[in-house]
Amino acid sequence: MVATHAHDDHTAGVGDIYAAAKAAKFVTSAAFTSSEFFAAVAADASIEDQLVPSVRHEYKTVLDEVMRRGRAGAPHLLRASEQKVLLEVAATGSAPGFKVTALSPSDEAQNRSVRAIAEGSAREDMRVRLAAPDPNEYTVALWVEVADVALLLGGDLLNGPTACGWRRVHESHTPERRARLIKVAHHGSQSSHWGPVWMDFLEPDVLAVLTPFRLGAERSVPKQRDIDRIVKASGRAFITARPQKPTPPKDVKETRALLQTIATNVRERDGSPGHVQARMCPEETVWRVGAASPAYELK
Ligand SMILES: [Zn+2]
Repeated sequence: MVATHAHDDHTAGVGDIYAAAKAAKFVTSAAFTSSEFFAAVAADASIEDQLVPSVRHEYKTVLDEVMRRGRAGAPHLLRASEQKVLLEVAATGSAPGFKVTALSPSDEAQNRSVRAIAEGSAREDMRVRLAAPDPNEYTVALWVEVADVALLLGGDLLNGPTACGWRRVHESHTPERRARLIKVAHHGSQSSHWGPVWMDFLEPDVLAVLTPFRLGAERSVPKQRDIDRIVKASGRAFITARPQKPTPPKDVKETRALLQTIATNVRERDGSPGHVQARMCPEETVWRVGAASPAYELK
C-alpha cells in the first residue's frame, strides 16, 4: 500500500485501509513533510497548530498500527526513494511475475525535505514556525511491470526543481520497455508534464488515466489546454469525473436546504468520484477500458 504524498486527496482514509489490510506493507516517501514527521512524535501545542490535522491523523493512525504489528514480519513501513524496488515476485506457472519500482523522491528531494524541517523549527523570539514545502515535490512515482506490460503511476510529482521531480526521473530511470498506461501526474497539470518522459517512457498509443482536482475555477485541473495536450500525447485518455464541480440543479439545492439540520455534504451524483478500469489479458495488446459514471473518455 503506497501513500504517494501528504495531501488529503491522496491520503484520506489510508489509516483505516492499512489497519484492515493485515498483511500489507505500508510505503511512504523517504522525503517527508512536517505533518508526517511530527505524526511520529508528541509535538508541543505550538507545532500541533501548524500541522495539517487530517494528514497528521492519517499518518498517526498508520504509525500506531505499525507499532501494533510488532516485530513479526517487520519492517512494516517502507520508505520509497529513487530506483528502490518495493516489490518483486517471480512468475510461477501461469501467474505472471511483477515488479514495482519507486522512481522518486530523489536524493535531492530528500535533502530538501530534511532542510525544510530543520529550517522551520527554530526562529527568533523562541517562536517555533514550520516551513511549508509542497508535498507534491516529495511524491512517490511508481514504475510497475506485470509480465511484459509496464505502467507509470505519476502521483502528483512535479517537473522539478533541479535534481528532483520528472526532470530527475528522466535521468535516473532506464526502462526496458515503454509503459502502456500512465496515471497522469498531478491531475493533468502543466507543472507535472515533462515532455521527455512522455516521449521516451511511454508507448505512442499509451492509455492515459487521470483524476480531476476541483477547487474553484482558478485552481481546478485539468484545464482545457491540459486535456488537449493529454489527448494529443496519448492513444486514449479517460478521466474519473468532470474537471469542474457541477453546479447543483434546483432540486438538489432544495433537498440540501431541507436536510440541512440532519445531513451534511448533500450533493448530486456527478459530485461523486467515478472509476476507470483498464484490463488486459497476457496474450492481448489492447486495453479493455471500463468507465463507471461520472468517468468518461476525453476527446
Ligand atoms: Zn492530488
